[in-house]
Order: sequence, then structure tokens, then C-alpha cells
Amino acid sequence: MIRVSNLRKEQLSASRETRIVCDIDCGFAQSGPLWFSVPEQFGDWLTDDVYDAFMIAMLFPAMYYNEDIEIDGCVSEKLYDNVTHYVQQCEQAYIDGLHEVHVTVRGFANTAKVDHLVGTGFSAGIDAFATFYDRFVKEANPNYRISALFFFNVGSHGGGTDKARRKFHTRYDYLLPFAQEVGLPFVPMDSNLFDFYLFEWEYDAGVLCRSTGMLVFQKVLDKYYVAYDYSYWEIVHMTAADYASITDMCNDYLLGTETLEVIVDGTRYRRSDKTRMLLEYPPFLRYLNVCVGDVETVNNCSLCHKCKRTMLLLDILGQLDKCGDLFNVEKFKKIRFKYKCQTVLQRGTDIYAHDNYVLAKKLNYPMPSRLVAWLYSSPQLLVATLKKIAKSILYRQRRQSDRHYPT
Ligand SMILES: [Zn+2]
Repeated sequence: MIRVSNLRKEQLSASRETRIVCDIDCGFAQSGPLWFSVPEQFGDWLTDDVYDAFMIAMLFPAMYYNEDIEIDGCVSEKLYDNVTHYVQQCEQAYIDGLHEVHVTVRGFANTAKVDHLVGTGFSAGIDAFATFYDRFVKEANPNYRISALFFFNVGSHGGGTDKARRKFHTRYDYLLPFAQEVGLPFVPMDSNLFDFYLFEWEYDAGVLCRSTGMLVFQKVLDKYYVAYDYSYWEIVHMTAADYASITDMCNDYLLGTETLEVIVDGTRYRRSDKTRMLLEYPPFLRYLNVCVGDVETVNNCSLCHKCKRTMLLLDILGQLDKCGDLFNVEKFKKIRFKYKCQTVLQRGTDIYAHDNYVLAKKLNYPMPSRLVAWLYSSPQLLVATLKKIAKSILYRQRRQSDRHYPT
């Protein structure tokens, strides 16, 4: 049983932060407080009257370890119903071994709103930029126009390590001038969520982590845009092997409440459409940040898969040589042919490779033939495949051993 109790707000005068905190009593990790914190000027934005965020935060560990959840307080009736009937089943559809668990609560309640903002997360990636451009720069309706930007530390910077926390702060400091430039509040929210999570849940539980962040701020949020990566066309034609993204989209819609509407945005565009559109918006090529490389700085490493696919896309669009401040263009040019070969071989199965390939053909950008790509890449592919198989075996063994935690 996971027990969640004593929801409260705390002031940390030394660091000038405000937190909402719950006590977590569980067997799979060290029991103790779970907290979400913001700079004190945003302290009133924290939702301290319902347990919604904490229920969603504990859902994945509960399902993984087959532990029911007991909450000593109230949650949204709508969210509770969705968690009971749909969210868990959606998670089970693509992650093997998750259990359906019972959640008991004292009752139902909605947070008392203190504002009516429209929020979105902002990381300066292409998806986040496209949502920002469409729903702020081009949006005229104040009920749908973004009025606050958020930046969460709930796993996406590399789990819950000190290194991840440093990266979170470094990235926030890098992006703050953009928020100031466009005149919007930009709220950094730190947490110790990963004290209760395994490292790889950054991916497995990603949508629940993000939703936890949104629910922390539902006291001030009427709507929250989730910048989705795939287009409707790609969802229909190319996501057969990517159930995670489809179920993420389903769950995003299920994780709102009576007073917080979640809107999945960006699905009308492919990645190349978003990039072409954003080239009209000068800050895009000043702040674009896509890197998932293992670097603590905010620089795009120019070697990770996200950097490479973005650089190829910019090259196809004839923009790469203007991006010397964002990427190491010369470094990419040395591996460009190899990456083009990889792109050719992955078209038809990888959504981003396919998008880049189709655009290249459309714009007469030179790409190698499939035969040339195969001849060039086959020795490297063999090594990569063997590495992938070994990694998958190790991952499965680790998951099995993690399930036998001491009771
Ligand atoms: Zn990178």
C-alpha cells in the first residue's frame, strides 16, 4: 500500500522557494516527503487543496509494484474516474507487467481557482516552439492565447540526479531571456519525484510525470497545451510500432480535471512543416535547443540523434550555414553522408527520417540511393544491432530484479 497524506505548503526562507509537500509511506523506496517547489513569487500558483498531482505522481510506481494507493484527502472526480477506468489500462497497453491498482480517496473536490491562465511547457525544441508560435504569436483569442510558460524538473533532464537538477537550472537560465523578450512569466518547478522512481521511468512514465507538473498548477490554469511530436498523418500511417506515442496522446486528454483542460497541440503539422513555419519567427534560430546528448551545458552537441536529424532538416531547407551559433556545423558536415545513409535506410519505418527524406526529394536535395546507403552502412548496422540486443537483455533483467524489492 502507498499512503499519501498531509498535503501542505511550506516556505523555504533560505532559498526563497515555496513547496507543496505530501508524506509518502511506501515499501519500494524510502518513505518521506514528495515535494514540488517554485520560486516564492509563484507560491500562490501551487495547488494545495486537492491531491490530484500526488495521485498521478504515485500511479506509475503503484502499477509497477502492484501496490494500491490510499489518499488521505480529496481529488478531482473526473480525474479519479479516468484513472480508474482508462489511464491505467492505457499504460498497460504498451508496458508489459504493469498491474491495475485501486485508489481510495476521502472524497471529491475541485481546486479553488485563483487565476485563469493558459499554459504550456517551453523547452525551445521544435514542437514547443511551434505550439508557442501558433498559440501565442498567431493566436488572437485571449481564452486560447498562452499566458504562462512552464519548465519542469520531473525526469526529462536525466531522471533525478544532481546532474539532472543542474541541467534543469542551466536550461532554465538559458531560456529565461526568451520569456522576458515575449513578456510572459516563466515558471521553473523543481521536484524530488525521482526519489520514488527508477531512472528509466523518465521515458516509461513520461506522460504521467508531465501531467503531474500541470496538475501542480491547476489552481491558476484553465488550459494547458501539450506540444505533441507527431502529425495526424504520421499517427495514421506510421506509428504502428510506436504505441507509446499513441497512448501518451490518449492519456494526455484523460489527465485533465473539471477545471483544467488539456489540449494536445501541433498534430496538424509534420516536423518539417513546423520548422518551415518557424523560420518566419526570428527567435527560433536564436534559441532552438533540441539536444538530448549527455552534456551539462545548454549547447546542442551536434552528435545526438535529435541534433543530427534537426541539422539535416535545416540543411535540406538551406538554413544550416546560418546556424553556426546553435550547432557545430563543421562537425556535422563530417558525418553528414553517414547520417544521410541512415536516413535513407530508416525511411518508411522512422517518422523523422521519413519526413526528412520526403522533404529532401521534394526540394531536390541530394540523398544517396538505398543500395549505396546499404553498402556504406551494413558493417556499422551489424554492430549497432548487436549492441541493441545486448542492451535490451540487460534492461529486462534489471526490471525483473527490481520487482523483487525487499518488503
Ligand atoms: Zn545533441
